[in-house]
Amino acid sequence: MRYDQARWTRNGEYEPLLAEKDLTRVEIRDTEGETGEESGSAEGDVTTVESPLPDELTRDELALPGLSEPELARHYTRLSQMTYAITTGPYPLGSCTMKYNPTFTEDVAALPDAAVHPDRPAESVQGTLELCYRLQDYLARIGGMDAVTLQPPAGAAGEFVGIRVASAYHEANGDERSEVIVPESAHGTNFATAALGGYDVVSLPSDEAGRVDLGALEAALSEETAALMLTNPNTLGLFERDIEEIARMVHDVGGLLYYDGANLNALLGRARPGDMGFDVMHYNVHKTFATPHGGGGPGAGPVGVSEELASFLPAPRVREAGGESADPEGEPTYERFDPPETIGKVHGYEGNWLVLLKAFAYIARLGDEGLADASAKAVLNANYLAERIEYEVPYGPFHHEFVASAGDQDAADVAKRMLDYGVHPPTTKWPEIVGEALMTEPTEVESKASLDQLAEAFNTVASEATETLETAPERTAAGRIDQTTAARTPRLSWHALGE
Ligand SMILES: *Cc1c(COP(=O)(O)O)cnc(C)c1O
Repeated sequence: MRYDQARWTRNGEYEPLLAEKDLTRVEIRDTEGETGEESGSAEGDVTTVESPLPDELTRDELALPGLSEPELARHYTRLSQMTYAITTGPYPLGSCTMKYNPTFTEDVAALPDAAVHPDRPAESVQGTLELCYRLQDYLARIGGMDAVTLQPPAGAAGEFVGIRVASAYHEANGDERSEVIVPESAHGTNFATAALGGYDVVSLPSDEAGRVDLGALEAALSEETAALMLTNPNTLGLFERDIEEIARMVHDVGGLLYYDGANLNALLGRARPGDMGFDVMHYNVHKTFATPHGGGGPGAGPVGVSEELASFLPAPRVREAGGESADPEGEPTYERFDPPETIGKVHGYEGNWLVLLKAFAYIARLGDEGLADASAKAVLNANYLAERIEYEVPYGPFHHEFVASAGDQDAADVAKRMLDYGVHPPTTKWPEIVGEALMTEPTEVESKASLDQLAEAFNTVASEATETLETAPERTAAGRIDQTTAARTPRLSWHALGE
């Protein structure tokens, strides 16, 4: 590994700059010189007290590097050059919708008025509540849903909330059901959500054309079906043309239809899950609405539902304050409220407010036309790229993404080699319906020139020998890393750099 470029000191070594200290003892220095009983000794005005924390939670050293601002700036710039970002080049990681996050949303979130304490009373944060209300409304209109909660902190958390809401709905109807149906091409979180929700997972095979097999669905459906979880377009980038028939079949047995919103970028401003018959959905705002993606920061995964499910949503939601609390002559006022049969709380306050604010800013800036334009270009870009690459691309025509096959090559090797050509690789080996899958989603943000650059990278790798691929990447800061070890026992401390 070549991480040694990122050194902490000028001579290239890690040197703790502070002597080891026992931090189980806290020093309290009395600057006034007024001393308590224990202090006032010849040693100076220092009191030590026992830390209230248990021993296993205290550190025995806190050796902070003492660096100047330029040293720090260089360190982080060097690190940023060792990795790959959407600001470096195209990032066609299928199903993830790695679109560029426009920085104006950061400006909006950095406005001093955006930083409100969540415990402030509703009267003093009317602007915040109004934006929450309007975002609920935007999302409901985009998804064709009747009510939205902003609370869940990620798409997967939204799935869990959606399935909990569905199960609360069935329970309220005195209708115990034990199964959730998930297509075999679904994202792993769908299976996990269904299982965590207490359901038996019924896996649904695809038909020859890569879509839901209606015969298999018929066979899987029963009085035990609580829900069918689908994403549309599906993970192959194909629109489920039979969606109305699928909805009818699921509803006929008393089940609910769940929409995994990860692929909403394909439909924005053009089609709505609610109109297709979906009863509940989550929105991945970091995919569709350009809020920060990955990196372990806070996220958001709002959930929308149809009228019948609204009373089960998590608390609180935000509404216009009607009746006596509102001034009939003046502006509407907004209040938090708990839906009557709420499943409870899944996150503090309104959810991750600053992330939600960025989603709001993005939607408001694009408007109806901008959103419809985004989905059109996302679909056009995926189909253009699918045409240009020399790997076999089964199925099609596509929506926002397509799945090519690396054929005799190993998809993971292809991905590593693509890094050498200055582009990010696609998602690999999923869905399993396509052997050595290269799941590719360029998104609407790429120009024709960058799509051509991507196609060239794909096509160059397609013509290369296995031996070349097996040792790739050659031109990146880190070479062939042991991914399993990196994932299972990550080194998360900067101490490791010097060792
Ligand atoms: C990304 C994704 C999810 C999970 O969403 P997170 O916000 O990452 O938790 C679920 N389903 C599909 C199809 C996805 O692509």
